[in-house]
Amino acid sequence: MRYDSVIVGGGAAGLAAAAFLGRLAIKQGVARRILLLEKGPRVGKKLLATGNGTCNLTNMYATSHAYHGDIELVKSVLKALTPAETVDFFTAIGVDCTVRADGKVYPCSQQAASVLDALRLEATACGVELRCDSCVVALRPDADGWCVELPEETVVAHQVLLATGGAAAPSLGGGAESYRLLTDRGYEKTPLFPSIVQLRTVTEYVRAMKGIRVDARASIRANGKEWLACTDEVLFTDYGVSGPAVMHISRPVGDWERRKQGKLVLRLDLLPDWEMSRLESRLAERSVLPGRTLEDLFTGLLHKRVGQTMLRAAGVGPLSRAADTLTREEIHHTARTVKGWDLEITGTQGFGGAQVTAGGICPDAFERETLMSRRETGLYVAGEMLDVDGDCGGFNLQFAWSSAYVAARAMAARW
Ligand SMILES: Cc1cc2nc3c(=O)[nH]c(=O)nc-3n(C[C@H](O)[C@H](O)[C@H](O)COP(=O)(O)OP(=O)(O)OC[C@H]3O[C@@H](n4cnc5c(N)ncnc54)[C@H](O)[C@@H]3O)c2cc1C
Repeated sequence: MRYDSVIVGGGAAGLAAAAFLGRLAIKQGVARRILLLEKGPRVGKKLLATGNGTCNLTNMYATSHAYHGDIELVKSVLKALTPAETVDFFTAIGVDCTVRADGKVYPCSQQAASVLDALRLEATACGVELRCDSCVVALRPDADGWCVELPEETVVAHQVLLATGGAAAPSLGGGAESYRLLTDRGYEKTPLFPSIVQLRTVTEYVRAMKGIRVDARASIRANGKEWLACTDEVLFTDYGVSGPAVMHISRPVGDWERRKQGKLVLRLDLLPDWEMSRLESRLAERSVLPGRTLEDLFTGLLHKRVGQTMLRAAGVGPLSRAADTLTREEIHHTARTVKGWDLEITGTQGFGGAQVTAGGICPDAFERETLMSRRETGLYVAGEMLDVDGDCGGFNLQFAWSSAYVAARAMAARW
């Protein structure tokens, strides 16, 4: 059977493209054969995991500043489908949204599953055929379109959209293999590295705090200069650090990891609301409280295990030491450690822990206004497989929706 359009990949971009295309076909009043092929047993597995299962589906402040890679492409696709229009679209298909003060948008249900259900329902109601367990292994042009090759079958289509995602989160369908669908045809790919990812650090002191979450200011530093910083929750783990603050600032570490030039440091300020002088004088007051040893110097100010680890890292003696024997210099040094604890970074948790892939297919080979290949008519791309990645906060899904919209609109115009 010959299809009008085939979409490869049933993730955020592929499903949105299916819904957009289905709606456009109905608007045109002409029956169209549209097929979505997904390699996994179900569509939208990654979508279900977004926002810890709540799906931060966009950000009202999404502008090109929140993105990396081909920024001109980002500007162009965000203009075609803005965050406000995205919210209107989801509302129209049954997902009422709630907008937080920081611009993050979630479904009112707080369930990523409802976003997936709505997209799937909309696509199928518009006549799109969704086929799972169908891994596309190659693409080949034919006289009037494209041959989409599955291991045991070839599907023929007038036009094809690739939305196979990136290398991040292989347990949720990510993987680097599907870039080959394009690189085998001569399309270029920039180096890939993980972003929005947990960081590995020296673990000498970190391990003792495994499982503890603190609100801290985390910054990435190289050669004494701060690259990026974020104040939010940090989670200590047995390999290093995780949590929103760390994920937010992780992108340059992924980039550094593949080149390993120089040394990167994670600096943590564990009392970001406290001035250094206030902390010093408060530690001096606490040190002379009756009967205190170092073991309890921080009790009531920091998580107990964190306080004790800071004293160890500061090297001011055994925890059994009487607190009132601390010198001014030692108090200053301890406060410095709490306000600026440096941990050498050894790497990231890789694509396995990452939410997003930085790098990807070079968009230069595709028209910005349509996302169709400049040299192969009827071949389109959308989503994370392109060399565009966003910061944490709903920006990556917005790029998936907007790029899917651009491709779907152009495909419908060529039917
Ligand atoms: C844990 C986690 C949480 C996240 N939370 C958020 C969030 O809250 N907000 C946000 O904006 N972003 C979030 N992201 C990022 C966001 O999910 C992705 O950027 C987005 O899903 C990318 O959409 P996509 O359609 O390009 O790729 P994907 O959603 O990865 O979909 C690609 C699909 O293509 C399929 N596929 C691959 N190759 C083939 C093939 N050869 N044949 C057939 N099918 C194939 C895959 O199985 C997959 O289903 C999160 C990511 C993760 C991992």
